[in-house]
Amino acid sequence: MPYMCTKCGHIVKIEETERLLGVRCPKCNCRILIKVRPPIIKKVDAV
Ligand SMILES: [Zn+2]
Repeated sequence: MPYMCTKCGHIVKIEETERLLGVRCPKCNCRILIKVRPPIIKKVDAV
C-alpha cells in the first residue's frame, strides 16, 4: 500500500515491517503519511 507524504506529496511505499518501526518520508523526513487509495475507475454507461 503506497503512502503519500502530507508535506511534500512524495509517494512512499511502505512494507509491513517498516510500518511497525515507524515510517517517514525519505525526502523531507515528515512523519505524517496518509494512505493513497488506488484510483477507482467507475464505468459510466454512455448514452
Ligand atoms: Zn515528504
